[in-house]
Amino acid sequence: MALIVKKFGGSSVATPEKIIAVARRVLKEKNSDDQIVVVVSAMGDTTDDLISLAKAITDQTTGREMDMLLATGEQVSIALLAMAFAKLGHEAVSMTGFQAGFTTNEMFNKAKITGIAADRVRQELNAGKIVVVAGFQGLTKNGDITTLGRGGSDTTAVAVAAGLKADHCEIYTDVDGIYSSDPRVVPTARRMKEITYNEMLEMARLGAGVMHPRSVELGMHYDMPIHVRSTFTQEPGTFIREEYTMEEKEFVIRGVTHDTNVAKIAVLGVADQPGIAYKIFSTLAEANVDVDMIVQSVRAMDKHIIDMVFTIAQGDAPQAKKLLERLKTEMEFSGLMIDENVAKVSVVGAGMLGNPGIAATTFGALADAGINIEVISTSEISISCLIELDRVKEAVNAIHARFFPD
Ligand code: ADP
Ligand code: ASP
Ligand code: MG
Repeated sequence: MALIVKKFGGSSVATPEKIIAVARRVLKEKNSDDQIVVVVSAMGDTTDDLISLAKAITDQTTGREMDMLLATGEQVSIALLAMAFAKLGHEAVSMTGFQAGFTTNEMFNKAKITGIAADRVRQELNAGKIVVVAGFQGLTKNGDITTLGRGGSDTTAVAVAAGLKADHCEIYTDVDGIYSSDPRVVPTARRMKEITYNEMLEMARLGAGVMHPRSVELGMHYDMPIHVRSTFTQEPGTFIREEYTMEEKEFVIRGVTHDTNVAKIAVLGVADQPGIAYKIFSTLAEANVDVDMIVQSVRAMDKHIIDMVFTIAQGDAPQAKKLLERLKTEMEFSGLMIDENVAKVSVVGAGMLGNPGIAATTFGALADAGINIEVISTSEISISCLIELDRVKEAVNAIHARFFPD
């Protein structure tokens, strides 16, 4: 007997026919004594449509009401999938995130799971039912509905798998594994047989939307290998795990990612004195605005004036603007610029540690394509460049071609 968690994303359950096909596949691959939890996302573009609905009412939504709205998408697909299992002759029960015991903190729209009380799920599994759990949602200790951030159903799946100590955690999606770059952007991208948690986490953080970053973090924390594969084919897919087991360790770079959900903020003409960076970034941190790349540039050596340039997620830009404008009463600066016309391209690979040629190769690929780099940031296993939004596809392809020549 095995306990298996299978997660199906929005495009896998986009229509009633696809929902029935998912139920059919799960039943076909199930051994008679296997216990199965299926986590599902909202059908197709439902979450985007719900966001548009809210925007049609107001652009001043609160996090609480937004999450109340967004969580309905997954509630539709769990009920329909449970009905599909019943139609095919297998008992199933649908559960919202709250019924499945997910508690979260109170950061609406990007809540973090704080616990899972999986007793009810276990009980239903022991009664022989397939349990269908709504991805992406939880409940605060005050009983408010939260969501885990876009793509958060992956995290629900890995959290359930870890909580139940499942034998396997499988993420079914519309691609047949993890590729060296988004295959929709780089047609020559290569599928990997396996990738380490560390590298996948970095790729996900830097824009590889195929996995929710937090899901990989949970996989790493609980050492729950994640098997990513296609809903529509039988291809073997990719394993995300602690260590490489095969020949793939020889790759220095594992992937080239891009992120267009970036806004560049420049606080211009700030006096160069202690406490300035603290003031700017603590103000943003208090409002939960995540800051990513940061550059402090000196105008002229003798002028003691600097510009502070940094990036945040586009969704946080209006709030950041408000907060920074308010700061004008506490510190002097000559201007504030917000530019959403930027994107970040990154190379990721644990092999770049102690391999200085990687940065040069990356910058060389952009230079030869005539693409200007506005900001650079690095971690131990990645290098990121901020560039003009319009050139992002070209940039990713140019860098990918250098590291993965045919
Ligand atoms: P789901 O709805 O199943 O969660 P997503 O749209 O969230 O699916 O993720 C799958 C998509 O991720 C793919 O269609 C692909 O375009 C994109 N993607 C981005 N980077 C990668 C990558 N490195 N490997 C595979 N897919 C990627
Ligand atoms: N439905 C949510 C979204 O579109 C969660 C998910 O698909 O993982 O972001
Ligand atoms: Mg997803």
